[in-house]
Amino acid sequence: MYSDLSLEHFMAGLIKRNPGEEVFHQAVYEVAHSVIPYILDNTKYRDAGILERMTEPDRSFTFRVVWEDDAGNIRINRGYRVQFNNSIGPYKGGLRFHPSVDLAVLKFLGFEQTFKNSLTTLPMGSGKGGSDFNPKGKSDREVMRFCQAFMQELSKYIGPNTDIPAGDIGVGSREISYMFGQYKHIRQEFTGVLTGKAMEFGGSLIRTEATGYGCAFFMENMLQHQGDSMAGRTCLVSGSGNVAQYCIEKINQLGGKVVTLSDSSGFIYDPDGIDAEKLAYVINLKTVQRGRISAYAEKYGCEFHRGKRPWGVPGDLAFPCATQNELDKTDAETLLANGCIAVCEGANMPSTVEAIKVLQQAKLLFGPGKAANAGGVAVSGLEMTQNSIRLAWSAEELEGRLKDIMEKIHKTCATYGEQDGYIDYVKGANLGGFIKVANAMLAYGAI
Ligand code: NDP
Repeated sequence: MYSDLSLEHFMAGLIKRNPGEEVFHQAVYEVAHSVIPYILDNTKYRDAGILERMTEPDRSFTFRVVWEDDAGNIRINRGYRVQFNNSIGPYKGGLRFHPSVDLAVLKFLGFEQTFKNSLTTLPMGSGKGGSDFNPKGKSDREVMRFCQAFMQELSKYIGPNTDIPAGDIGVGSREISYMFGQYKHIRQEFTGVLTGKAMEFGGSLIRTEATGYGCAFFMENMLQHQGDSMAGRTCLVSGSGNVAQYCIEKINQLGGKVVTLSDSSGFIYDPDGIDAEKLAYVINLKTVQRGRISAYAEKYGCEFHRGKRPWGVPGDLAFPCATQNELDKTDAETLLANGCIAVCEGANMPSTVEAIKVLQQAKLLFGPGKAANAGGVAVSGLEMTQNSIRLAWSAEELEGRLKDIMEKIHKTCATYGEQDGYIDYVKGANLGGFIKVANAMLAYGAI
């Protein structure tokens, strides 16, 4: 039945079954490109239709979210949860609140999560959810009412051994707290059903920092493998949210100098570097004041480029930490021309397929998000462990474990991706993540 498993044939079938879902097609293409040769060499996976099954979520659903704004108007949004694959553990993946959220975006993110969670070495399946709700410009009370209405419905489908959501774009500590409070209220139970909780009610130290720290660790691992390091390197970071903030903190600690930051309105260029004091300003600006990054340029007297992305600034290392498809072929060519030696993805799928091709053909170090940003979900997994054993580990213990997990992910990528001295981290991450989930699916039989 699956004898014609060519990339073209497989993708044609996937596109036919999932029309109009371009970002999902893109995410699957990147994985299928790496794993199909392996599947053809190991026909037990082909004969069991593993890739066909792995690209079909276990289930996805949408629901109506009705809430009242401060002016007394009834507002309606759409909520989603995609429970993608629970072969190696309960569904696990974040919630995104952003106007661009639709089923295609969440399927791409849930699919990526399958491989990412497998790479962490922890027992976590994959999922993703969210809403087209836009928290920007909403009052605190409006966000609270939305989160409560959202959880009213979602609470029917999740649980600490079933599906454990977390944060993502637009969902930070404030939103997780409102949703956790509502779940606890509805279900009359105090369990670790969400991760990214505050410390007072079952959160984990280092979770806030984990994705950004992990991304910087992964870059350092890639460089060290080449006998190099981040010390003294000029770094370009995009985004200014959770991932970007803590990526900068760790880059600074490792001796790098970050000169850019961005948000959806443009980027700032600070040639003197974003040191700890300036970073504290950014964290306050973005998480407390919920302001725009242009305010940084006004405060520190540096350049702000409206509507532009930071990839035209000369730098050695690039860290896309904002959103999907924010680094295209032209950006990749510009980075190369300006002497960039490595790109490490803090965001999910920030580089287009064409951009990755340009970077890999030039033999740049390229760390894909599913490996490089897995530190966030890894510490979420450690939050689940701490909730289960009802203990809290120290920051030192957790950062040590995070560092260790990122090293293991790097090793897995090198094992499956090294050829003639160059590591294809995309292939390494895809194959390393695939094999564990595929073996579990094979063991269960035809489900
Ligand atoms: P935040 O909401 O904290 O920050 C997102 C940042 O990206 C903001 O600076 C935002 O700008 C910018 N951004 C969002 N959409 C766009 C857009 N369309 N164009 C330009 N800039 C945009 O999110 P996170 O930092 O948590 O997430 C960033 C990325 O990292 C996402 O891809 C997410 O999936 C991924 N990720 C996050 C993890 C986590 O633990 N938080 C874990 C693994 C991956 P603005 O303020 O203007 O909207």
